[in-house]
Amino acid sequence: MRIDILTLFPDMFRGPFSTGILQRATQNKLVCINIHNIRDYTHDKHHTADDYPYGGGAGMVLKPEPIFETVETIKKEGAEALPIILLTPQGRLFSQAVAQELSRYSQLILICGHYEGVDERVRQHLVTDEISIGDYVLSGGELAAMVVADAVVRLLPGVLGSAASPLDDSHTSGLLEYPQYTRPAEFRGWSVPEVLLSGNHAQIAKWRHEQAILRTLKRRPELLDKASLSSGERRLVDNLSTHPAAKESP
Ligand code: SAH
Repeated sequence: MRIDILTLFPDMFRGPFSTGILQRATQNKLVCINIHNIRDYTHDKHHTADDYPYGGGAGMVLKPEPIFETVETIKKEGAEALPIILLTPQGRLFSQAVAQELSRYSQLILICGHYEGVDERVRQHLVTDEISIGDYVLSGGELAAMVVADAVVRLLPGVLGSAASPLDDSHTSGLLEYPQYTRPAEFRGWSVPEVLLSGNHAQIAKWRHEQAILRTLKRRPELLDKASLSSGERRLVDNLSTHPAAKESP
């Protein structure tokens, strides 16, 4: 996959994309992330990428010309129809399902706004999708683009390695993930649940599944309404929600 990010602050991307899973994915050529400085596509002496809002008011608005020009330059290299995504608090809410949807493309373009946002004509005539990472306002789209890129890249085949599968992750099946433990088996008097030390894989799987359902019931019950559960799993949900003995891992 190729991800092209348009920003006024390319330096912000240095740390997050050059460490950990994203760095490894880049080194293994599973993804190629290009950061484009919108200012490089301005043609005046001062490299003006923003200007005062028509009609007055506080803040600055990103100008349309350099954003159009950057996207058109990128598209010339690839040419195919590809999602051109504006990060904006007014967009559709980002979720694991949206990350999965985006992970099927071979290229994405992400546009980061700043200050008061971007000229409306970018939204109307250039972008094909608008994404918000939550109902709050950030000072720029850079952190939002990093969130989207990270969530999408870890879903690409090979990125997490064959041993680690994202299938059990929270929000993938509609359930939150079961609790995880590692060594030591006892820490400050707190023990790892017996079943995890038993070596009985069927029982471990059953325990994990129940814990995932209990956790979701307790923390995010509304997720269960949308989760695609089998009739057996539905029965388990009903059982666990009415059964007073059902106990979440402490
Ligand atoms: N005045 C705008 C907000 C501008 S915030 C409004 O009220 O809608 C500046 C920039 O930060 C935006 O252009 C966008 O790119 C980014 N941004 C802010 N909050 C965001 C969010 N929740 N999700 C995605 N991008 C966001």
